[in-house]
Amino acid sequence: MVLHIPFDNTYARLGSGFYTNQSPALVASPQLIAFNQTLAELLQVAGGDVLEMAQVFAGNQIPEGAAPLAQAYAGHQFGNFNPQLGDGRAILLGEVLGTDSRRYDIQLKGAGPTQYSRQGDGRAWLGPVLREYVVSEAMHALGIPTTRALAAVSTGETVWREGGLPGAVLTRVASSHLRVGSFQYFAARGETEALKKLTAYAIKRHYPQAQGPLGLLRAVRDAQARLIAAWMSVGFIHGVMNTDNCSISGETIDYGPCAFMDHYRAEQVFSSIDRMGRYAYANQPGIVVWNLAQLATALIQQLDNPQEAVEEATAIIHAMPSLIEVEWLRLFRRKIGLETLASGDLELISDLLQLMADENADFTNTFRALAEGNATDQFQDPKAFEPWQARWMRRRASEQNAEALMRASNPVYIPRNHRIEEMIAAAVAGDFTLFERLSAVYQDPFAEQAGAEDLRRPPEVDEVVRATFCGT
Ligand code: AMP
Ligand code: MG
Repeated sequence: MVLHIPFDNTYARLGSGFYTNQSPALVASPQLIAFNQTLAELLQVAGGDVLEMAQVFAGNQIPEGAAPLAQAYAGHQFGNFNPQLGDGRAILLGEVLGTDSRRYDIQLKGAGPTQYSRQGDGRAWLGPVLREYVVSEAMHALGIPTTRALAAVSTGETVWREGGLPGAVLTRVASSHLRVGSFQYFAARGETEALKKLTAYAIKRHYPQAQGPLGLLRAVRDAQARLIAAWMSVGFIHGVMNTDNCSISGETIDYGPCAFMDHYRAEQVFSSIDRMGRYAYANQPGIVVWNLAQLATALIQQLDNPQEAVEEATAIIHAMPSLIEVEWLRLFRRKIGLETLASGDLELISDLLQLMADENADFTNTFRALAEGNATDQFQDPKAFEPWQARWMRRRASEQNAEALMRASNPVYIPRNHRIEEMIAAAVAGDFTLFERLSAVYQDPFAEQAGAEDLRRPPEVDEVVRATFCGT
């Protein structure tokens, strides 16, 4: 039986200004590393043996109904506007309707050069492909909106970075690949008709209740506010929150130099290219507001009288910090077992985080230990925790469900950097057992799993990963 993907493409119908048709490059000898059967079922992708899947997900064989293309977009990178980015190493095969009646993009990342590749080679190497596969699926299991991974293949080709590395392709699934930068692209070119068309398309696809460009702005703002609060609640640092990596659907997209924190540090940065710390952990809520302001600037250019809309757009953006804070507080309350609201909660949570920073405490393990009743062990000086613990106990007294709430909100397992790096090193040497093990454990992050105790452990001094590199 041949591999069947029930394509139903809509983006391709927007017309030529929105993309360029582009077939993936042929690669030497594709081999299937991973195929996400559960996700395949959701997408109604069926049939096909391992050999055929390797051909299709490497881009060597174009499945029936696909309309391969590279999307055009712009974006602010580290604050500087680039009027033309676009899919330089990704090719959209098309869209499918899932069994949940939602629409999904199926995209090959690392599938060869496109019109937007600039100096890049259009390729990906195995490391970033496996990182994105594992971390995006872990994120999904944590209940956080994200693009997903359907397949990973090795290409049998060498990709040149600092040296030669094994080439690979990731099949990425997203609610769409529309970004803030997609709108900036047309706004910067003064292409008002295209901007209107894209706005109508995004509303229909993602927010059918939204009214007009400002309705879309409000909907994206709300989705992004929830997303960033969710990242904060698991200690996730995206690393490259450029406007081209800020999705309209409100999903986490582009797992480049991303990382989860081990010990808590508000100013933590991992990305080797983020020298100023623009995208540090604690800066993320501020940066997403900045990104949404760029979306506002782009969207209002399609209005007959943009000046009149400035006031309303400004109000929409100005409301965003408090939306993030409300959601942040809701999520962190749950992390310390509180379902009800009380004044002083913000201070209680902030004081715990400060204590964690002062005492070099592990973010994930400390919160989980609150549920397990042994948090004292997480602090260098257990005495330092006691006053806070006493305050917390008093506050908790009226809560019915604290322990269950904490167990459901505080993961046992997150994809720790040193494990991801260990997994990549092993895979480059041809051993995928850790990749498979991590993929399996992270699928159920809130449950303690026998035999996985080592994956709870923060890195030893010599295991600490200080920088992650952009996933090119
Ligand atoms: P990213 O940092 O992954 O969000 O990528 C930013 C831009 O650089 C996008 O337009 C990518 O398509 C492009 N890009 C990144 N890596 C490559 C590559 N190896 N070849 C071509 N284009 C790339
Ligand atoms: Mg990107």
